[in-house]
Amino acid sequence: MYPKNSFEDCSDWAEGIVSQMTLDEKCDYVGGEKIFYTKAIERLGVKRVMMSDATAGVVLRDRFNEFTFQNAIDKSTAFPCPLQLSATWNPQLAEHYANSVAEQCLAAGIGVLLGPGFNIYRQSQCGRNFEYFGEDPFLVSRMIEKYIKGVQDTGVVATAKHFLANNTDYYRRKSNSVVDERTLNEIYLPAFSAAVEAGVLAVMTSYNLVNDEWAGQSGYVINNLLRTQLGFKWLVMTDWSSVYDGEKVVNSGQDLEMPACLATTGLADKVRSGVVAEANVDRMVKSILTTLKSMDLFELEPRSDLLANFPRHEAVALQTAREGTVLLRNENRTLPLVGDEQILVIGDYLVHKAHGGGAAYVDGYDTVQLLDALTAEFGERIAFDKAPTWQCIEQAKTVILSIGTMDSEGWDRPFELYEYDESFIRKVVSLNRNVVVLVNSGSGIRMTDWANKAAAIVYCWYNGQNGHTALAEILSGKTNPSGKLPMTIEREFADSVDPDYVPEGEHLYGSWSDPWEAAREKYDIHYDEGVFVGYRWYDGKDIEPLYPFGHGLSYTRFEYSDLSVSKARFSVDDMLEVSFSIRNAGTVAGAEIAQLYVSDRQSSVARPPKELKGFKRVELAAGESKTVTLSLDKTAFSFWSGEQRGWLAESGDFELIIAASSRDARLSAMVELL
Ligand code: BGC
Repeated sequence: MYPKNSFEDCSDWAEGIVSQMTLDEKCDYVGGEKIFYTKAIERLGVKRVMMSDATAGVVLRDRFNEFTFQNAIDKSTAFPCPLQLSATWNPQLAEHYANSVAEQCLAAGIGVLLGPGFNIYRQSQCGRNFEYFGEDPFLVSRMIEKYIKGVQDTGVVATAKHFLANNTDYYRRKSNSVVDERTLNEIYLPAFSAAVEAGVLAVMTSYNLVNDEWAGQSGYVINNLLRTQLGFKWLVMTDWSSVYDGEKVVNSGQDLEMPACLATTGLADKVRSGVVAEANVDRMVKSILTTLKSMDLFELEPRSDLLANFPRHEAVALQTAREGTVLLRNENRTLPLVGDEQILVIGDYLVHKAHGGGAAYVDGYDTVQLLDALTAEFGERIAFDKAPTWQCIEQAKTVILSIGTMDSEGWDRPFELYEYDESFIRKVVSLNRNVVVLVNSGSGIRMTDWANKAAAIVYCWYNGQNGHTALAEILSGKTNPSGKLPMTIEREFADSVDPDYVPEGEHLYGSWSDPWEAAREKYDIHYDEGVFVGYRWYDGKDIEPLYPFGHGLSYTRFEYSDLSVSKARFSVDDMLEVSFSIRNAGTVAGAEIAQLYVSDRQSSVARPPKELKGFKRVELAAGESKTVTLSLDKTAFSFWSGEQRGWLAESGDFELIIAASSRDARLSAMVELL
């Protein structure tokens, strides 16, 4: 149960400490120190508390090279990236994953995990998509609430980030997200609201501006949206070096400037001269102390006994890769690769792994490289050639081609692969009809020119230190793939939402060339698509994606039947129960992710053609059937009404669609809201 101590008790205790602090001590306390710590107040027995990134495992390295963690442990597990976790559609697994990450925090003496991050996947080019959970607010919310529980059940504070509307990383310190209230409420706030409901104890604001003010010093973002509307009462911290005006910071509802007092330097003088109210500084200090006290973090000592649990954590990482690998295409049952013929393995990332960069990068240990995993699974069938000739590729019975990208915080990467890689892939699939393409990437990539020539395509993301073992099991058939896409993969970037977000005349930069972005002016990103993000966009515009949201194949077939709804006509406060059967109609065991979409048939405002409002991952033995029941309350039928400034479920007809992907409806029923 968390928090360990109640808000009221901790608040009283914090008030006692604040009353004994001098003005200078208080003003000093609102900034961190040594990059990843809160400050100590030794005179009052308050110790410093250590924080670390983040969502895909605990980062033990200091990427700023200014300070080395006093690590109590020398290794931490590199988990599959969060986008792959989301591809499992398994909230229970998200809880185990997060629990494992948090136990490793405790082993290292880290009290605050600087994650989960879960900004919505608005565009495939965002360099941080791999750190997040995809495009759909409902799916993200269900994964996130369990993630937070998994972290905080251990006594570690989770940090929901990055608040708010930080959906690209191109000059992230200078991008101004111009976004309306309905869009914020329907798309960008729900997962934060779910995090607050789940009891998250910290929130990190983002680098970007939201409607003309930097998020970390915006009263609208923090006081209005986060604290008043979502009801968040615990610790708010800035992203690292992301605020500029100390006075605004203090008045915005912000609590802690990381990694140090930068914008808030000289605060005490501002209080003395009456520019800043001391009561606001007191509020900040009190909030930091209250939150850290709520989990007894001042007493935290590294727990080396938890190293004994690392094998369990590794098993969770492996299971995530098993469930989160997505089979996008499998012509003529190319996979699994049964038989005893040779398999030629070519491409990138065979002996070193693709992975995401920046704050989320975890070194890991005992990393399983693709070639080793394939050799362990297929033995002598594997033929590896560093520089295969075209003839060798042409003559191979089967080719495994590994491709990918290295995405990172700090920049966005083009949807298209480099021309050299593209033409190589095109050539390989034109030479051989049995090519299995493995995509190691943290976001969507352009596959349009070769996808329908490849025999099979497996999306393996950045699958963590042991994920290739799961991948090899999938290729051999030992594990049946069951992941489904948590985002849409478009045919062309121009098909997607706001493809021209990079200011005219500029190009995506390839590396973190100007980290402080001092030289440039701020620029606007207009969220003109409103609530039409992800499949809502492609459905609304009738654009065919290459692979739709929710898509993923299996080695077996699933049949859906017997849809029933508890009431055909219902009132706004009724709970609807939606039941249906799924049967595994094939010959091997497998898992299906059934999705429930709601489509509003008549509305006073433009609404997406359908929206995800329920899902269930179901394990089925060959021939087995199960009944799935999903519940819908009024939130499943509501939109954010600008007029009423609240959620509104209008009466009328709604279609309930049971689907295997957002473009693969299997059953449907009409209901009427009275
Ligand atoms: C990232 C945050 C991270 C922080 C501390 C920033 O650059 O945006 O996500 O938590 O660094 O490492």
